[in-house]
Amino acid sequence: MIVAIDGPSGTGKSSTSRAVAEKLGLRYLDTGAQYRAITWWMLSNGVDVNDPVAVADQAGKPSIVSGTDPLAPAITVDGIDAGAPIRTQEVTAAVSAVSAVPEVRTRMVELQRAAVSGAPEGIVVEGRDIGTTVLPDATVKIFLTASAEARAARRSGELNGAVTVAATRADLIRRDTADSSRTTSPLAKAADAVEVDTTELTLTQVIECIVTLVEE
Ligand code: C5P
Repeated sequence: MIVAIDGPSGTGKSSTSRAVAEKLGLRYLDTGAQYRAITWWMLSNGVDVNDPVAVADQAGKPSIVSGTDPLAPAITVDGIDAGAPIRTQEVTAAVSAVSAVPEVRTRMVELQRAAVSGAPEGIVVEGRDIGTTVLPDATVKIFLTASAEARAARRSGELNGAVTVAATRADLIRRDTADSSRTTSPLAKAADAVEVDTTELTLTQVIECIVTLVEE
């Protein structure tokens, strides 16, 4: 059982994917955390994240290891726990540029497919290109959407209001535009994915909806 959950930022992908994995006894992989981890490494090592040649040149260097326990998602970079630093505004601002570099994507896709191979019990994988590129043969494909207002309000809430809804909305739109317009495996809905609009749904309703789709 391989469940691919894609969609733009702030649609509730991570909370939903973790809960679905937990309910169904599956492993869980957050591919956004992997792109954030390599971005954090680039920033920490003085690589100019706006120079695709420099990023491509260094893409093979960091060792990124992702845990797949839905109750305790973990990620390390060169053996260091990267759970907190990958969530900073600095990383969020740089991650789309790093993710657009083909050499970065090739490396991340290798890691992602290895994680799936290492989870014979099945896995929920969340990201932007899982149903289209990483796992085109996934058993179930979901594409989550929500209005920009709902996504910004949720993300601002997650940040405890530290960033205003208006600023969060502008950042989400900037990131989604970059993620959707890059040439290598952009954010996209697979032709055979089921689209779930979460704007008017609670998290519990979204989880129930996806569990039902998986169990059908
Ligand atoms: O899911 P999250 O918001 O943490 O993802 C951070 C960034 O990682 C996205 O904005 C996107 O640039 C990149 N990403 C990607 N492909 C994926 C998952 C994330 O390009 N499968």
